[in-house]
Amino acid sequence: MSGTLYLVPTPIGNLGDISARCRDTLAAADFIAAEDTRVSLKLLNHLEIKKPLVSYHEHNKLESGPRILARLQNGESCALVTDAGCPAISDPGEDLVRLCAEAGVPVVALPGPCAAITALSVSALPTGRFVFEGFLPADKKERKLRLGALLREERTVILYEAPHRLRETLAALLAALGPERRISLCRELTKLHEEVLRMTLGEADAYFDANEPRGEFVLVLDGAAPSREETTLEEAVALAQALIAGGMTKKDAVKQAAKDTGFAKNALYDAIMK
Ligand code: SAM
Repeated sequence: MSGTLYLVPTPIGNLGDISARCRDTLAAADFIAAEDTRVSLKLLNHLEIKKPLVSYHEHNKLESGPRILARLQNGESCALVTDAGCPAISDPGEDLVRLCAEAGVPVVALPGPCAAITALSVSALPTGRFVFEGFLPADKKERKLRLGALLREERTVILYEAPHRLRETLAALLAALGPERRISLCRELTKLHEEVLRMTLGEADAYFDANEPRGEFVLVLDGAAPSREETTLEEAVALAQALIAGGMTKKDAVKQAAKDTGFAKNALYDAIMK
């Protein structure tokens, strides 16, 4: 009979976030598959757990995955851990889960820390409907295509990013989505220097021009305003007029209403002037 692959989430910064069930599962597994065995060894030492470790990461998954599967098929149980957070979310654990599922080996996921969900919950942006985009492609052309698809995305968008690429990514987001889109930059979550910066893309770009990005980031972006089909021209005009009544200049109000409703500025301007 096959053993089971356990997906064991580990803390994303605060060791106190390991659950009792995760600890027990690590202690009971026959062996542990880790993304970086040195990182996981520190956690295991902290938990006073001694276990055989095998390495499973992006660059050895094609050889290591089948070896782990063979051991599972031989009846051993394996706990899969990533450097931090939830295995199989933006890391090669995804491939091992598929391999096991295809071979009929049971896979059990334990709930626990996940950088994306931790950031979403503290972002102060809508959480009812969201999309997880992981890391944007490094290739500029592919990234542009992906960002183009996000332009009209109405759900909240979650992105992972490395600190050395943050500025470049913010510049690309700014170019694709405009300066007014709201973003929550969730930095060093659960760690000593945890910080959540809630601002617009334009402000974020300027902020990180002046401040070197440090630590790990999850970016949470507000969704696009509901598409034009859902807003009539009359509603868009009413919005612009309400903004003018609130003290905005006609030019700014038309610009804002056009952005929020998807109508062209000229069309709105003409309708207001009628
Ligand atoms: N599988 C993990 C998860 O979903 O929790 C994430 C793995 S992914 C390779 C690593 C990315 O997660 C980092 O580049 C960063 O975007 C995010 N991350 C991890 N820990 C974080 C933390 N403490 N604060 C903010 N972002 C974090």
